[in-house]
Amino acid sequence: MSKKVHKIGVLTSGGDSPGMNAAIRAVVRTGLYHNMEVFGIMRGYQGMIDDDIVPMHSRSVANIIQRGGTILKTARSKDFYTPEGRKKAYDNLKKHGIDGLVVIGGDGSFRGAQKFSNEFDIPCIGLPGTIDKDIAGSDFTIGFDTAVNTAIEAIDKIRDTADAHDRLFIIEVMGRDAGYIALHSGIATGAEHILIPETKTDIEAVVDSLEEKERRKKLVNMIVVAEGDETGGANEVLSIIKKRLPHLDTRVCILGHIQRGGSPSCLDRLIASRLGYAAVDCLLEGKHNIMIGIMNNKLHFTALDKAVKAKQRISEEWMKIVKILAS
Ligand code: ADP
Repeated sequence: MSKKVHKIGVLTSGGDSPGMNAAIRAVVRTGLYHNMEVFGIMRGYQGMIDDDIVPMHSRSVANIIQRGGTILKTARSKDFYTPEGRKKAYDNLKKHGIDGLVVIGGDGSFRGAQKFSNEFDIPCIGLPGTIDKDIAGSDFTIGFDTAVNTAIEAIDKIRDTADAHDRLFIIEVMGRDAGYIALHSGIATGAEHILIPETKTDIEAVVDSLEEKERRKKLVNMIVVAEGDETGGANEVLSIIKKRLPHLDTRVCILGHIQRGGSPSCLDRLIASRLGYAAVDCLLEGKHNIMIGIMNNKLHFTALDKAVKAKQRISEEWMKIVKILAS
């Protein structure tokens, strides 16, 4: 049933993540290698609707593998939720002769792609691009490794000043639904407590443990909290601790958007290059409407409608390791 694909469009959609540029570069250069025409679609699905579509050449993606953000820009498109918006997008693709799409984004972008390809005869390939690492069907997502390394760098600096003043720091990292950035950065920086949405947070136990540490004069402590933890963010954690331990010198630091930017790590560049290359291969082979991930170091294909946000289980062992190592 699959037709041969000759002209492909690539877009980045939803939240940006470092490494998206490396993925765009891989899609463009692999497409050109196979004598395809490749188009860059600006600002995600909104660019499809507005006909903001530009031909891409090998030089268009020169000098971007090391850059964060996305040269194609990204957006959230309200219009794409409507059948009229998607029809307009389809008409614009047809106008350019685009017969295959590579969508780099999160699960929302995949839902859009799935809907679009159900309505029109445009095969779509999704590549997981999100700093949260919370997509079913992939051990990695483009951007996670960089974000977590940015968090580590910042938390290490905070520990220096915390140590100088004997302070307790509560550091909030990104992760509305997933605690992977908090878990990995917390373990890697020796945080005393890590609060994540995947596990039940016993804030009273955290306070008890801080009291116990105070008794043995351990005053420098770091709590890393994911923004989506059920206790709330760093400010909510602070207000609970302040009530019970008002005398502690406590500070809050919310890392915020620095976690999204910056030059992608080696791992993110490799993943993005591998997935971008594979996306074009899949379109050529007639594999349609799938997300390509990596599991156990092998490419792994998931139907777009199954490539949803997934709360991955955090192993009990990790939480035990955190407790033992940060005593
Ligand atoms: P992410 O891809 O990072 O999860 P969003 O959830 O914001 O980000 O999705 C990105 C875009 O994908 C949305 O702005 C919208 O244009 C499109 N999209 C998401 N869900 C749907 C849907 N159910 N139908 C049509 N388009 C959708």
